[in-house]
Amino acid sequence: MSDTFADIGLGADLVAELASLGYEEPTPIQRAAIGPLLAGRDLLGQAATGTGKTAAFALPILQRIAGERPAPGRPLALVLVPTRELAVQVSEAFHRYGRKLGTAVVPIYGGQEFHRQVAALRRGAHVVVATPGRALDHLRRETLDLGDLRMVALDEADEMLDMGFAEDLELILEAAPESRQTALFSATLPPRIASIAERHLRDPERILIARDAAKPGSMPKVRQVAYIVPRAHKVAALGRVLDLESPTLALVFCRTRIDVDELADRLAGRGYTVASLHGGMSQAERDRVMTRARAGSVDLLVATDVAARGIDIEHLTHVVNFDVPSSAEAYVHRIGRTGRAGREGVAITLVDPRAHRLLRNIEQATKQRVTICTVPTPRDVKARRMDVTRAAVRDAVAAGDLDAFRTIAESLASEFDPMDVAAAAIRLAHEAAEGDGSDQEEQHIPVIESFARPKPAPERPQGGDMVRIYISGGSKMGMRTADIVGAIANEARINPRGIGDIEIAETYSLVELPARDVDHVIRALRGATMRGRKLKVNRDLGIRPGK
Ligand code: AMP
Repeated sequence: MSDTFADIGLGADLVAELASLGYEEPTPIQRAAIGPLLAGRDLLGQAATGTGKTAAFALPILQRIAGERPAPGRPLALVLVPTRELAVQVSEAFHRYGRKLGTAVVPIYGGQEFHRQVAALRRGAHVVVATPGRALDHLRRETLDLGDLRMVALDEADEMLDMGFAEDLELILEAAPESRQTALFSATLPPRIASIAERHLRDPERILIARDAAKPGSMPKVRQVAYIVPRAHKVAALGRVLDLESPTLALVFCRTRIDVDELADRLAGRGYTVASLHGGMSQAERDRVMTRARAGSVDLLVATDVAARGIDIEHLTHVVNFDVPSSAEAYVHRIGRTGRAGREGVAITLVDPRAHRLLRNIEQATKQRVTICTVPTPRDVKARRMDVTRAAVRDAVAAGDLDAFRTIAESLASEFDPMDVAAAAIRLAHEAAEGDGSDQEEQHIPVIESFARPKPAPERPQGGDMVRIYISGGSKMGMRTADIVGAIANEARINPRGIGDIEIAETYSLVELPARDVDHVIRALRGATMRGRKLKVNRDLGIRPGK
């Protein structure tokens, strides 16, 4: 378990870069994939977003092509991804990891001007990160040549197939030299993926998700909840959840050292007493933190997995995963820190919408349900604080021993309405308890629940709630299903599975969409380009252009 990045074969430059990014150790997928990829093996990996899969293929690619110079328009590595966002994210990751190696990375995707991409390719790119449709366009225009490719990575292959890119993938893989190395990553491995792997990978190393992370009966007694929150809103969301849960002591896990410092700072700003623990601290510093935590003078302990290893704190009431951990094993290990000594513990996981599949893998591996909850509103938090005050006053009344205050109460009651006196006293107690940790951020946190559970439902909404839209471009301008699905998924961000029949005529195309998405999709597509052009998009009125 304790292999370092250097142990699994990465060179000093990459290791140093990872340390400066605050990565403390490889994730399980990285541990399994990097060695074989460095050794030149093909790879078939089952990995969802959030497992660290990007680095699992980016690091070996960077190392294997370091020091080589690409010819204009002839990259040494190609990464195919389903969406524009992913193209940008993955090329940013390459850029970050490859800073010391001077690797040139170019993202190419639909919607961006062609000539800019052509210019970037011409300057010479070590790595091209592309959506399949756009990569194929460049191949056809001969602005991209795959003749020098040493490595190809397919990222989120199942998504690419869902978006209708199967044919494009085949064409691209056929244009790459046979001698190249191929890595295929996919969150799921349906037969269609197996068949691509069969045809395009050579004796691949297979990395599959462990089915059972926990032995039956070995799971601790822990209430497991999750909140689906985009990254930008996580701190605010966590603040509210903690306000509501009022943990005695919570252990909050982050992925990197840098995340630990940043989160600790921001939570301290919300009025919590916070201490942090990470692998960059000396043993003496860690011991000091642990002494404070055990003494009960810390509310929140923010830590990386490495730093928290071996920590055992009796009164830990909550474990928080600020991100979904990179494997089911890590999840089980983390949440096992609470719920000790027969007390019920609470495990809270904040899930970026993109990482929801990882949460599902964890549920499958642990055979336990994680309840998806809605982030409390500021009103919920206020109500909860009132409850706490009410309970505190009630306890104080029940405990008696009020003689010292009774005289004051009596004298005030002769002057004012006794109910007013009591209300004012409660208000003072409430405000004193609240301190300055009140919810300064009344920011709006989007509620995301749509994919909370896999629906056993059909692939797309059935019944009469599909509406057809008209797009003013068809086969004559080279329009393909993948262009339409890609544009809808990228621009309107709706799940491509919801898209119904697509008919591509010579000069126009018709697309069926769930009625509730139609207006949104039309608006989104109006600003978009398909096959390099801005097209008219309307609800279909049955009017067809003359031939
Ligand atoms: P991915 O699954 O590739 O989308 O990565 C998920 C996140 O984990 C990204 O934000 C990465 O920066 C981060 N990450 C990847 N590998 C590691 C690691 N070994 N340690 C800490 N964070 C990592």
